[in-house]
Amino acid sequence: MKILVLGSGVIGVTSAHYLAAAGHEVTVVDRKPGPALETSFANAGEVSPGYSSPWAGPGIPVKAIKWLLMRHGPLVIRPVVDPHMWAWVFRMLTNCTAARYAVNKARMVPIAEYSRDRLRELRATTGIAYDERSQGTLQLFRKHKQLDGVGEDVEVLKRFGVPYEVLDPDGCIGAEPALSKVRGKFVGGLRLPGDETGDCKMFTEKLAAHAASAGVAFRFDTTIDRIEIAGGKVSGVRTGAGLLTADAYVAALGSYSPVMLRPLGIAVPVYPIKGYSITVPISDPDGAPQSTVMDETYKVAITRLGNRIRVGGTAEISGYDLRLHDARRATLEHSVGDLFPAGGELSKATFWCGLRPMTPDGPPIIGATRYANLYLNTGHGTLGWTMACGSGRVLADIVSGRKPEIDVSELAIGRYG
Ligand SMILES: Cc1cc2nc3c(=O)[nH]c(=O)nc-3n(C[C@H](O)[C@H](O)[C@H](O)COP(=O)(O)OP(=O)(O)OC[C@H]3O[C@@H](n4cnc5c(N)ncnc54)[C@H](O)[C@@H]3O)c2cc1C
Repeated sequence: MKILVLGSGVIGVTSAHYLAAAGHEVTVVDRKPGPALETSFANAGEVSPGYSSPWAGPGIPVKAIKWLLMRHGPLVIRPVVDPHMWAWVFRMLTNCTAARYAVNKARMVPIAEYSRDRLRELRATTGIAYDERSQGTLQLFRKHKQLDGVGEDVEVLKRFGVPYEVLDPDGCIGAEPALSKVRGKFVGGLRLPGDETGDCKMFTEKLAAHAASAGVAFRFDTTIDRIEIAGGKVSGVRTGAGLLTADAYVAALGSYSPVMLRPLGIAVPVYPIKGYSITVPISDPDGAPQSTVMDETYKVAITRLGNRIRVGGTAEISGYDLRLHDARRATLEHSVGDLFPAGGELSKATFWCGLRPMTPDGPPIIGATRYANLYLNTGHGTLGWTMACGSGRVLADIVSGRKPEIDVSELAIGRYG
């Protein structure tokens, strides 16, 4: 088939790769001049099936109030006049029960684990390098209360067969030797040895180049104005460069998926949740993290990417606003400066923000739609890098009429009724 993939973030590019590998003639369209120039640009770099959990969970409404009052809190709300925003918040709150959390988590873990395995396979078969490391991730607790509460997470990890280690301060330093310089600042940690790290943008660019050499066409600098429907199916995609047509279409437009799909009567409950990152050049490799350290108090992830430290965090609900706020940068600098004071040159850091395409329940939306030739691969929220390869592969299987290797029927849009 001739297939048009809309969007060249990490989700669109992995989709295109696997579709081409399945024998299709694939074109990717994006408004940007290259791949991974929106949310996939500078994320926190964690490939973390171990942490693949919905944000909506029991206790979150109460924690959210506390976070909103903290100086370096992980949550910020800048109310905007947008009914979609409040509808999303309401739906998210209805998912904050133990029962919904269990269902949603059970939908996320298999695709995340499958994805990590596909990423490893891709690395082996293509030789793509992206400042990757396979040294696990460490969730670091500054307070005894956090460490004491680890039991609940451990139960979930056990249930899903995810390997883990609960560490005392010496164990944390064993995993991340630079923490020896700030020994008094933490009381323990939870390490997930099966997690990986790497630069999502570098990966996406290299996979796009690999796909291009395998025949995938990329149409950059091409803004999609609308998806056109005729006779119950998509008849084309109207762009600044004219009407583009294909046999099948894959919407991988990240946070902009609902904007493009709403006129077709497809209500994708994805909302942009803004996050920020700084990228800091390493000045002392021994003072920098080896892998990812998740500073649990501020929910900030600090990741080693080659000769840089990527520091990412904050969930800001403020619509599609892309302004960079200095207060958010201060939180990221505070966390990394406190735990890795000798690691990098903060004065030379670059500051970035992106819009996580979040569903209110947590899992992404992958699969067919009411239009026979339109498919979705979107809504990966906080875990798009973690879930990209698996999502691309199962999407390609669904489009090709093959049974995916894992059951993804509950990831389809139909789960919203
Ligand atoms: C601060 C931060 C930290 C994060 N950390 C992690 C992490 O550690 N691990 C992890 O797994 N995930 C992480 N994420 C999430 C991850 O980055 C996202 O889930 C992922 O990048 C989403 O990819 P995507 O391809 O769906 O969206 P995007 O990368 O946004 O791609 C969508 C594409 O669609 C294009 N597009 C949109 N509208 C149009 C239009 N009208 N016409 C043409 N093109 C259009 C855009 O240009 C864009 O290229 C983080 C996110 C943030 C913000």
